[in-house]
Amino acid sequence: MLTKNDLIENAHANGFADIGFTTAEPFDSHRQFLVSHQKEYGWVETMGLDLVRGTDPKSIMPEAQAIIVLMESYYQKTFPKFLEGHFGRCYLDDDRFTRDGLALRITAFRAYLREHGIQSKFPGHLPHRMAAARAGLGTFGKNCLFYSRKAARQGSWVLPITLVVDRAFEPDAPTIANGCPPWCRNACIAACPTRALRADGTIEPRKCISYLSYYQGDFILTGI
Ligand code: SF4
Repeated sequence: MLTKNDLIENAHANGFADIGFTTAEPFDSHRQFLVSHQKEYGWVETMGLDLVRGTDPKSIMPEAQAIIVLMESYYQKTFPKFLEGHFGRCYLDDDRFTRDGLALRITAFRAYLREHGIQSKFPGHLPHRMAAARAGLGTFGKNCLFYSRKAARQGSWVLPITLVVDRAFEPDAPTIANGCPPWCRNACIAACPTRALRADGTIEPRKCISYLSYYQGDFILTGI
């Protein structure tokens, strides 16, 4: 029978910086947040991602018993300085088209599970960062980014990969909390150029430059 330690070793052997475990219980508070903020997040559904449904892992896999979160770090390679100044690190280290890096490592980890009789699903609409915090892998900043407990020098250059599995594992202690130091006076909120960040630690996603760049064709970022 595969143990947590076996999976931890395999995750590291496949190049993941960290791994955590949580239950397949629904993400109730996250669901409530999404339902009460439909105006801000409802547009995601029109892109084919049903975020509200994704808060229940059993809607993804009825026999779900646990969620395994693999932590991918973008802070493993260096890139030419002139590129780093213009492109986000996740895009420099991105295999969404080539499928020759992270995709292969996720496939290898899932194959290892399958070889030991564990089925897994890799959903796009499960709350990945909340799953990571529930699995004890890090905390949140007031800038709404997820900060890793140990990957990427405890930074936010990470990507949680969530796998819903049909085998129960002892869950890790959750770390769902704000991790900002008390001495920081909301520097991110003051600096946010589009005023997307709010003082209560939430974001207006439709003001975020990421949203404006991807989904609003008439917005062009200049001067960088
Ligand atoms: S700038 Fe300050 S308030 Fe904002 S995320 Fe960083 S530590 Fe938290």
